[in-house]
Amino acid sequence: MAKKKSDDQDMRCAFCGAIPDATNIMVPSPISNVYICSECVDHIQEAVREFTGGAASSSDKAKASAKVQKLKEIPKPAEICEFLNSYVIGQESAKKYLSVAVYNHYKRLAQNADDEVDIEKSNIIMVGPTGTGKTLLAKTIARLLDVPFTIVDATVLTEAGYVGEDIESLLTRLLQAADYNVEKAEKGIVFIDEIDKIARKGDNPSITRDVSGEGVQQGLLKLLEGSVVNVPPQGGRKHPEQRMIPVNTKNILFICGGAFDGIERKIAQRLNSHVVGYTNSVRPGVNRDNFLQYVAPQDLKSFGLIPEIIGRLPILTHLDPLDRDALRRVLTEPKNAIIKQYHKLLEMDGVELEFESATLDLIVDKAIEYKLGARGLRSIVESIMIDAMYEIPSQKVKNFTVTPDYALEKLRNANFEVNNL
Ligand code: ADP
Repeated sequence: MAKKKSDDQDMRCAFCGAIPDATNIMVPSPISNVYICSECVDHIQEAVREFTGGAASSSDKAKASAKVQKLKEIPKPAEICEFLNSYVIGQESAKKYLSVAVYNHYKRLAQNADDEVDIEKSNIIMVGPTGTGKTLLAKTIARLLDVPFTIVDATVLTEAGYVGEDIESLLTRLLQAADYNVEKAEKGIVFIDEIDKIARKGDNPSITRDVSGEGVQQGLLKLLEGSVVNVPPQGGRKHPEQRMIPVNTKNILFICGGAFDGIERKIAQRLNSHVVGYTNSVRPGVNRDNFLQYVAPQDLKSFGLIPEIIGRLPILTHLDPLDRDALRRVLTEPKNAIIKQYHKLLEMDGVELEFESATLDLIVDKAIEYKLGARGLRSIVESIMIDAMYEIPSQKVKNFTVTPDYALEKLRNANFEVNNL
């Protein structure tokens, strides 16, 4: 450890004989009782650089090659996408963007500081209806990574001084995920869910303060563009006596997700306005059933995100609504599909479970009928299965088949329709 001037006047530099002062500090030898001053350290570094012709030192080279080696171990975008495929149905566009962004994030981390081309980070924003897999994509990516990762909710954030949480508390969770290792956290990934909830509430500067809207966006901007922020270690609201942890967000990748309810209308309006003379029709070739696929930065602006935030989220991708076919696949195909989980649970009791194909169709129909989407599939299956899960372990059965009639009866008994309409 370097020592500042002290009353120990014997602490002289063994190289030049200088004594410590405010600018020239003494660095002790780790093995004997001698010191070298910081000016001599600078001179020696300079001499080494001249001797090696400005080439990187061998330890720098070793570090660089370790980084390249590490990059080789990182899954390539196609492999990341393949991994996502085992858990997430459809959403090809979002998967591709995410895979590339995460891979590039690692490349940035592997880049040398003195590289001429500075790879800028590409924060991402995913727009898609609720229950289509935004959080699932983020969580699945997290399984694959060896950088700290956290999911935080934008709805709890408010401008400093109001009830709610400070914007910096977003990073508390990341610090926790990194076991408070700041250096690790500074290379992490944060998924900010429900980003649409901090949209500006109206186009006019409001009479009542918009404490959870534009003010929060301004605060978030600081984080997204990269700066050193003071993070409260336990989260929540900062208070004066609290010890803060400075975290540099320059290398933190932010992935944002939001449903942006009603944004389709803004997209449709924009597409309409391009057709002179046709006020009620959209451009030819445009798929009217899924406007979300045409989402563009200006739509986010019309929705109420400030242009500076949009500029800091350069990768914009969308998620498709899940149709009947996709919902059917969600039930059975992912590695941890809900039906597979029930098979496993009963298998542990020595019982073979079967869902008739018509039963699976019925479950999907009900999810659509009650507008519950993918999120509803689980509650429907649980309502159908609760009695069986209660009774079967104490019965001596080897097989159990769930027929559509059985499923309907259980849903009726569980008052599923009453509770979910
Ligand atoms: P959101 O888009 O609102 O973040 P989630 O990712 O939380 O939605 O989805 C809720 C649940 O629905 C997930 O945990 C998962 O079980 C299921 N789900 C949603 N979309 C998909 C999908 N594309 N593939 C597989 N399961 C999905």
